[in-house]
Amino acid sequence: MFDITCDHCGRILIGLDRITSMHPTDEGLRVAYVCWCGRAGAEVTSRARRARLAPAPAPAPDHEHAIA
Ligand SMILES: [Zn+2]
Repeated sequence: MFDITCDHCGRILIGLDRITSMHPTDEGLRVAYVCWCGRAGAEVTSRARRARLAPAPAPAPDHEHAIA
């Protein structure tokens, strides 16, 4: 299971079969998924990201580079 923050569902667990791709980035492993509700999204999993960002709605995938 993998925990994500869906804009529609909030914090939620999804199964690995919902993950569509994974690849490493400068900030950590970027995991793309499709939520139970059908919404596609992506999360970057790393301690640095979790420490730097306050709890807030997940940014849209296209906005990840604007955060840094
Ligand atoms: Zn959802």
